[in-house]
Amino acid sequence: MSESYIVDSHAHLDFPEFDDDRQALFAAMQDANIRTCIIPGVSPHHWDKQLEVAAQYNCPFGLGIHPWWAAEHWQSQMAELRSRIYGQAGEQRLVAVGECGLDKHRGENWQWQLPLLEAQLELASELELPLILHCVKAHNELLALLSYHKLPRAGVIHGFYGSTDIARRYIKLGYRIGIGGLLLNKDASKLHKVVSELPIESFICETDSPAMTPKNASERRNTPLVIGQIITKMAHLQKKSNVLISERLYSNVAQLFEL
Ligand SMILES: [Zn+2]
Repeated sequence: MSESYIVDSHAHLDFPEFDDDRQALFAAMQDANIRTCIIPGVSPHHWDKQLEVAAQYNCPFGLGIHPWWAAEHWQSQMAELRSRIYGQAGEQRLVAVGECGLDKHRGENWQWQLPLLEAQLELASELELPLILHCVKAHNELLALLSYHKLPRAGVIHGFYGSTDIARRYIKLGYRIGIGGLLLNKDASKLHKVVSELPIESFICETDSPAMTPKNASERRNTPLVIGQIITKMAHLQKKSNVLISERLYSNVAQLFEL
């Protein structure tokens, strides 16, 4: 039997929610065969601690600016990102630009979300890095941008929540679909359909910890330890064995981010 690892492709383990028990959590992840997690970047203010945690626990990471933090001075935010990311030249653990994207649910800064995202798409293209994309209620706008900016390594639409048709449009552009804890909610039938109808090659899995706690969870805080349940649910929807789905998901994430 080949050995299979699990990678949580999206977990904010640098966030203060984990300050009290980060070490114990990483130990519990090892015990659960979770090899690592990818830590996305969210804003200049967060990068120092993010890089510190990523170095301490040897986690791959992305650098980027999340749409919630897009501000009027987005050009200077972008200048900071460029200098920080070029400062990481040769760092093997830097695996992506992101997370970046569009969020109309929190769209009070929409006018700056768009130029900030476009600048990050250009940066990903220039550095030949894949993207970690966040998209809420803005799939048409994001699909239009991604069709226009054809990126060498595409990326992932993380925490995907949309129809099978929308997922297919991203896949056609070379993107993978990031499936998270929403899948565990009984009423997420749209997402269940996406996972059962598309080939396993389309997906990677994630928890988006500490956000996105599944509805049935006992803890208020989400952690990468939930990833096993997400994989089991995906295997069930794909009508394949847990081992097979786990192996495929690992090979998908390793391929996308060159882990
Ligand atoms: Zn995130």
